[in-house]
Amino acid sequence: MNDKDALLLSSFYPKEVIINQVIENNNGITILLKSITHSHRCPKCGHTTKSYHSTYKRVIQDLSILGKSVYLNVTAYRYYCENTSCDQKVFTEELSGFTGKYRRVTSRLEDFIITLALNTSCEGTARICKEMNINVSGDTVIKILLRNAQLIDPKCGDFIGVDDWAYRKGHTYGTIICDGVSHKPIALLDGRDGSALKEWLKNNQHIKIITRDRASSYAKAIVEALPQAMQIADRFHLHQNLLKAIKDALGREVPTRIMIPDDSAPILSGSPTADEAASKKK
Ligand SMILES: [Zn+2]
Repeated sequence: MNDKDALLLSSFYPKEVIINQVIENNNGITILLKSITHSHRCPKCGHTTKSYHSTYKRVIQDLSILGKSVYLNVTAYRYYCENTSCDQKVFTEELSGFTGKYRRVTSRLEDFIITLALNTSCEGTARICKEMNINVSGDTVIKILLRNAQLIDPKCGDFIGVDDWAYRKGHTYGTIICDGVSHKPIALLDGRDGSALKEWLKNNQHIKIITRDRASSYAKAIVEALPQAMQIADRFHLHQNLLKAIKDALGREVPTRIMIPDDSAPILSGSPTADEAASKKK
């Protein structure tokens, strides 16, 4: 293989780190990364400092590679803040998307988990991740969602969509609010009884149009918080209603068993089949 065909692993990591070693075994892949920064901005005062304090290590999970789990073993620096008027004497450097307070997974893995969770459920996400050799529990998925829900920009247009979603299918549900134009999540609320939605709407009085599911709890919350807002049943839930109505009607009108006469069999006079056929003709 010539160099042009080679995949450069370092291109997937920040410029501020070098790859020291890649260890692959049956358990997965471990990549040893080391920071090569010479200075860093103090997160408190913004002063750039070049004074090293010490190093620290952090193990962070990344997206799996060809189905193998990937752990990054990162060695990064602590710096002294040289600004004498700053009360942050020592701080740990943060490599954007890779290290940071409480971070146990890279931001690209976190984005993947959030997308999956919003389209399935937290437990479903954990099961899919397990198949991909990404080690994450349903509880961790909930923690990631809640942490990111607090970071979501609360600003949105006057058109939103509201629906319920499962933290844990059959057990714990929440409410998701998406911008009606960008379709991006704006807020994740606890419960789906409408009380959290009502509070949220009270703080977002500029909303004019809301698409929602068929649950009466959301309709009631909207009427109480924003009586002027237009409520629209979304297409997915209209289809769902229609299919349920058809299924119920078929269940009511069509018998569970329909006897089909076997025309190919000879009908003998006096046999139960002949008598049945004769009675049907009457
Ligand atoms: Zn400082």
